[in-house]
Amino acid sequence: TGTAVGIDLGVASLVTTSEGEHLANPRHLAACAERLAAAQRDLSRKKRGSARRRKAVARVAALHAKVRRQRLDGAHKAALALVGGYDVIVHEDLRIANLTRSASGTLAAPGVNVAAKSGLNRSILDAGLGVFLTILSHKAESAGRELIAVNPANTSRTCARCGHCAKENRVTQAEFRCVSCGHAAHADVNAATNILRAGLALRDAAEAA
Ligand SMILES: [Zn+2]
Repeated sequence: TGTAVGIDLGVASLVTTSEGEHLANPRHLAACAERLAAAQRDLSRKKRGSARRRKAVARVAALHAKVRRQRLDGAHKAALALVGGYDVIVHEDLRIANLTRSASGTLAAPGVNVAAKSGLNRSILDAGLGVFLTILSHKAESAGRELIAVNPANTSRTCARCGHCAKENRVTQAEFRCVSCGHAAHADVNAATNILRAGLALRDAAEAA
């Protein structure tokens, strides 16, 4: 009984649902993260003990606080919308997702094709995903909603209509077009649909056992 939804977590939209909703578009957060990254680079060039360095440290701290506030605000709004609208919410297991993601580079170890700048930005935005899931799990628990975590492997390259899995299905970051059946969708909505299906399969298996 009740309604179930799959959610894809990302940088362009914090949450994209299998119903096609985009929650908490973090455009302001992205702009702020950009400024924070620039301020951190600026800080790294200042001489130790100098007045300019102290100023740069204060600027980085202020931007950090701003990013944190915006992140919490977006996460609370998105989590409330989900808990208010659905009984079962299926999301990617981020501990697994982060392992997959590290192939494209992180701040600690930039990937071969990833510039340090985008790596830094990415890590600032990625940190918000964990915060969001923590908030979502608290709200889901107090509202009596079920939260299911699934392995995100291949959810972004598998066709939600026919199941064909190929990296060529992913035309661009935002566009999915199945090379087998022609199914076209927003890439994140396609992924969210696969995440929902994986979660419901897990749940059925658990009930059958
Ligand atoms: Zn297909």
